[in-house]
Amino acid sequence: MSTLLINNIDHLATLDAQRTTLRDGYIYCEDGRIAELGSGTFQGSADRTVDGTDRIAIPGLVNTHHHMYQCLTRNTPRAQLAGLFDWLVCHYDIWRELDEEATYLSAKVAIGELLLSGCTTSTDHFYLFPASASPKLLDAEIRAARELGIRFQPCRGSMSRGQTDGGLPPDDTVQTPEAILADCERVLSEYHDSSHGAMLRISLAPCSPFSVEESLMTRSIALAREAGVSVHTHLAETADETAYCLESYGCRPLELMERLDWLGPDVWLAHGVHFDDSELETLARTGTGIAHCPTSNLRLGSGIARLPEMLAAGVPVGLGVDGSASNDRGNLLEECRQALLLHRLRPRSEWLDAEQVFRLATGGGARVLGRDDIGALAPGMSADVVLIDRLQLALAGTSSDPLAGLLYSTPATPVNTVIVGGQVVVDGGRLPGLDERDLVRRINQLSEEMMARASEKTGIDYQERT
Ligand code: ZN
Repeated sequence: MSTLLINNIDHLATLDAQRTTLRDGYIYCEDGRIAELGSGTFQGSADRTVDGTDRIAIPGLVNTHHHMYQCLTRNTPRAQLAGLFDWLVCHYDIWRELDEEATYLSAKVAIGELLLSGCTTSTDHFYLFPASASPKLLDAEIRAARELGIRFQPCRGSMSRGQTDGGLPPDDTVQTPEAILADCERVLSEYHDSSHGAMLRISLAPCSPFSVEESLMTRSIALAREAGVSVHTHLAETADETAYCLESYGCRPLELMERLDWLGPDVWLAHGVHFDDSELETLARTGTGIAHCPTSNLRLGSGIARLPEMLAAGVPVGLGVDGSASNDRGNLLEECRQALLLHRLRPRSEWLDAEQVFRLATGGGARVLGRDDIGALAPGMSADVVLIDRLQLALAGTSSDPLAGLLYSTPATPVNTVIVGGQVVVDGGRLPGLDERDLVRRINQLSEEMMARASEKTGIDYQERT
């Protein structure tokens, strides 16, 4: 049995159902689970002890939407001022140059950033399998996640509706439904682990209404339900998408989901910006989850999701950083702050407080991903703990409410120690064994090469701001 003790924790915010907050706390973990927590001195010893002096401890944050490969194409000049559809069309040209090495290294960047912002569990919606690349790109991401130690729930995404069939993506970036479903079956049998505390689970995720066919949606969810895994897709992100659905399918995006039997507690949808009242009721009634991505929605001018109404109606909601080309960071703590502030544009009676936002980013995200073993610090839960130094300039004067201080006064050095499943994966604010500068150098080089190859083929200058 392996054991870990975190002691002398100055402020321990469990975010459990009872809102337990402890001073001078400890957390004792056995084999990756929390065995005991409390105040004062733990009576016993452990294989490893982490000192929590002057630290605030919170549960690891849960990220419910991402596209990690987009770390290769941040702030592309040609797409800096583009809305979603133009932004996608510009980027498809560059993304079709993706290969296994680029996928692996960009996942390392994205996961490293997430861990350093206090995120211990993340999904990734990976849907881009260019005809020219190895079909095992999801495997490359999984390798990166295992090396860095994050809890991972990647989605085997898919696109099957190319431009020839009325879709948005170029034909050589989509796959046939048969190839997609065969690979879904492969990754499910190779990687999915449904056990308590699993480090790796798989979800299935056709990309969006404008990049897949209805039959692929139906067959994907049938396969997922047979395997007992959850499904994910983009929905109701922009007004353009609603118009596309009305024209192509004769109905609004959520009506399409209803028609395809794509509602339920095993479904979570990214964005959900453009829902009307009755659609929010449908989401609540069916337990369908939403990944709220405020920064991306602002960046692409998509709109402001109706988060206060979603919560009032009882819709399950988690937070997501979304892809690295529409955020263009992967800092989940900053995303919490964004969620806190964005909805202050609403009437004051609907404002969220910091604890509510933290609940979205912990237990809310866990529920959306279909997990009951993460999202709060309590006996029996996975030992996913984040420690943040309270003695940094940005947090000076926040003692009256240390948890809220993390959002109102977001620290410049977000985390000191991150523990996932009882393993220390961030130590002293660093990722052990990772040469960050070398990684960034390699990513920058790959990014430039991909853009140059794309320019050569299309004649478009992606460095030009349009
Ligand atoms: Zn997305």
